[in-house]
Amino acid sequence: MPPSFPSAPKPAVPDLCEPCAGIQRHWRKAPGHAELVQGTHSREDRGSGQASFTRYRCDRCGAAWEYENNKANQHAGWALLEH
Ligand SMILES: [Zn+2]
Repeated sequence: MPPSFPSAPKPAVPDLCEPCAGIQRHWRKAPGHAELVQGTHSREDRGSGQASFTRYRCDRCGAAWEYENNKANQHAGWALLEH
């Protein structure tokens, strides 16, 4: 067995394409990337304000993303759903 790369951390979700892997998750206003295809959109009332959710699917690697837009939550942003 050849030695494996010593400094290659195992990603939490394998096979994300490079632009997907570079998306900053759970951070308000973090940008997505050009190959995300917009899907369904929904709104939720959160008491302190409205949150809106937009689904995206990556055209390159097939990853499913959800972007939460919520003015009251600095950590609302990109979340990886399924791959
Ligand atoms: Zn991707």
